[in-house]
Amino acid sequence: MKLIDGKKRNTEEDFWGKVLIPDDSNGCWLWLGYTLSHGYGTMRYGGKNRRAHRLAYEFTYGQIKQAALVLHLCAVKNCVNPLHLYLGTPHDNAQDSINDGTMARGISHGLTKLKNNEVREIRLLASGGLSQRQIAKKFGVSKSSICKIVHYENWGHI
Ligand SMILES: [Zn+2]
Repeated sequence: MKLIDGKKRNTEEDFWGKVLIPDDSNGCWLWLGYTLSHGYGTMRYGGKNRRAHRLAYEFTYGQIKQAALVLHLCAVKNCVNPLHLYLGTPHDNAQDSINDGTMARGISHGLTKLKNNEVREIRLLASGGLSQRQIAKKFGVSKSSICKIVHYENWGHI
């Protein structure tokens, strides 16, 4: 807590103090603070009630646009591991649900559906320690496709 304009305000330190980081830091980091009835964590920050996973994303990667969604790669709503979070649009959110149910469709499309920035993101997530299986699920492509991208056997020009 810090005093700002005479008011007690939560700091970034207060935020991470409420997070349970497991021994294997690639696992889910659970939010131990206040949790809303629909499962998302929340904390007052900057004079506003904020979603915990959005704050985790901002503290790690920088400010996000109000309209952007911070989505989970894992299905754990109160997880705030920045590696499990990614930025998306409402369209991605819907697409996620579709991919969850019909992985095969994504695989049949193969690599052609990936955009250049997605290929870069895949390599970034892999270097950040996310498993190829999790990345494959996020992008709706096969694990072998991810493996080829990570090892520059495919999309080597990017
Ligand atoms: Zn997680």
